[in-house]
Amino acid sequence: MIKLKIAVAGAKNVGKTSLIRRYVSNTFMEETIGTIGVDFMIKRLKYKNKDVSLTLWDFAGEALFRSLFSGYISGASGALILCDIANHASFLELHDWMELIGDPAGKISKLLIISKIDLLDQAEISEEEIDQFVNQYKIDCVLRCSAKTGENVEKVFDTLTQIIIDGTLRECPLCHEMISDDSDFCPFCEQNKDN
Ligand code: GDP
Ligand code: MG
Repeated sequence: MIKLKIAVAGAKNVGKTSLIRRYVSNTFMEETIGTIGVDFMIKRLKYKNKDVSLTLWDFAGEALFRSLFSGYISGASGALILCDIANHASFLELHDWMELIGDPAGKISKLLIISKIDLLDQAEISEEEIDQFVNQYKIDCVLRCSAKTGENVEKVFDTLTQIIIDGTLRECPLCHEMISDDSDFCPFCEQNKDN
């Protein structure tokens, strides 16, 4: 089992909880209760015949909780960075989120998610701005989705899983567990040796 921790970041009300809920339980609510602190959900999937478990960490957008963020991001292999297509301020706030995520070594795979694309007629974010952001922060991929209609929701998580596994993990030739690309020894084989 490949276990991946995924951090979901972005301003309050961009639809972080809704995206996770649509993906994990295929439901959507017009009225949501704001997330308090941190919440998480687990989803299992298969990638290239391997079992993968995604732990999706849903972080409250409120500034009040931001002091918790370093613990939240530590150990994450991927981040979904959300802005609401119909809310330009939520896009501007992403600069703060990128600073919180930090990641100077580039170990976290990052997807920019333009949420609520069912509201395309109210779009407030331009393609140029998105391109500029992608270059500035080395975003791996940009996807547009709607938790309301379900459009592209599976694709978001499939793509992130693919980018993390193909980009940062390799199979141990001895025990076939997936291990970090840049480590010299396999922690799974090492464990077996001790037993
Ligand atoms: P969070 O604060 O980022 O977790 O945002 P929520 O998931 O609580 O959603 C905030 C509000 O946006 C709620 O009223 C949701 O119903 C609404 N919402 C979430 N996703 C979508 C979407 O894809 N389309 C539309 N139209 N509304 C959405
Ligand atoms: Mg929430």
